Amino acid sequence: MNTELQAAPVCPQCGETLTDEDGVCPKCQAPEPQNDWEKERERLKRLWVVAALFFWFSLFFQAGLFILDGTLNLIILSVIMGTMVLGIFLKFRLYLHVRKGPKD
Ligand SMILES: [Zn+2]
Repeated sequence: MNTELQAAPVCPQCGETLTDEDGVCPKCQAPEPQNDWEKERERLKRLWVVAALFFWFSLFFQAGLFILDGTLNLIILSVIMGTMVLGIFLKFRLYLHVRKGPKD
């Protein structure tokens, strides 16, 4: 076994040694393992999607409640406000992260 290969990125699917430029495995076309910058970008994007989903879900839920019996639920309203602020914050973080680029 060659322990020197540990440092080089290898394809998670077929074990082919990868180069940084390709983005996909030259042998089986599987996506390369992500670097820290890409991981962080994906994490921020995922969090933003979750916040946006909660926002829209609670917004529609409150709209439904309001149409049905004219009530405004304070807990749902604060969830709407909270996820909206969180969504904007995460979108801003994502924007700054993308603008910064993969290099330090
Ligand atoms: Zn491969």
